[in-house]
Amino acid sequence: MIVKIHSNVPQEAVSEIAAILDTAQVRYHRTQFGGQPVFVAENISEAVCNALAKMPEVVSLVDISDPYPLCSAKIRPEGSVIRIREFAVGQGSFAIIAGPCTIETEKQVLTTAQHVKAAGATALRGGAYKPRTSPYAFQGLKREGLKILQKVSQETGLVTVTEAMSSEEVNIVAEYADVVQIGTRNAQNYRILETCGEARVPILLKRGFSNTLEEFLMAAEYILAGGNEQVILCERGIRTFEAHVRYTLPVGTIPALKLATHLPVIVDPSHAAGRADLVPSLSYASTAAGADGLLVEVHPDPDRALCDGRQSLTPDEFAEMAQTCAKIREIFRDNR
Ligand code: PEP
Ligand code: MN
Repeated sequence: MIVKIHSNVPQEAVSEIAAILDTAQVRYHRTQFGGQPVFVAENISEAVCNALAKMPEVVSLVDISDPYPLCSAKIRPEGSVIRIREFAVGQGSFAIIAGPCTIETEKQVLTTAQHVKAAGATALRGGAYKPRTSPYAFQGLKREGLKILQKVSQETGLVTVTEAMSSEEVNIVAEYADVVQIGTRNAQNYRILETCGEARVPILLKRGFSNTLEEFLMAAEYILAGGNEQVILCERGIRTFEAHVRYTLPVGTIPALKLATHLPVIVDPSHAAGRADLVPSLSYASTAAGADGLLVEVHPDPDRALCDGRQSLTPDEFAEMAQTCAKIREIFRDNR
């Protein structure tokens, strides 16, 4: 159950509601949603519900049985939109976030940014803190990389997305970038998710590669429970027995998530496929399935990339793919 409180009620009135729930021995969590204080409460009796519903401070009680009430589509059936400058994702705004796996040099990032912007990308990606399977692999330029990303953002006007791998890095990344990405390997690191909940920047949350849809939404719920409702979900493929791809992209998750949650849902076909030749097809399928955007790896010279060159598109391949995605969106425009 979600108890929504008017935004301008005095603190004492909110405490009075808390006292009613305490007396009734109801477990609850206090946070903010849609600019209003809310209580997320479990198992409230009908009598307590009736008492709360009569209070002038209470806007409404929304009965949501989903284990992820703040992410549930029932709390905001029209869907959420995340906006930063010209960048928007959700409610019909399609986001194309493109760029290299990792930030290598200013020239590499700037060249990529200019190309992807010309091709219709709405945001620039690039990793500064890289989660690498091998401790001996290139780990990213860290703060130096963030400074490059920020500089290129200022030059191109593109909004930036980059990953953080610890709570400390969430705060550092938020100083330099517009959107903090939480990668698949940290998708259930609850301390990091709590820090994201305290942050006041949008979070791009990837699906853990062995997470069910419900576990994915519960991870997002941690961020919303902390009062940060600016969350973009990203399906990036799950681990299966299949070996011709790096991960398996479950396209059916896209409409299923769109039914379950108000949060925007984007797809990363690059890490799912692990090979560039499949990226366009997976992007088309995701676009047709109702995704709110794509996160695509693009490198000016994939053969020389320090990370994930095999799955990176060239700028020309990306431009062609973006055009086809626009046509697919046009076909499906009236179907949802
Ligand atoms: C990435 O986007 O650079 C990345 C490492 O993705 P994932 O966490 O999905 O593997
Ligand atoms: Mn990568």
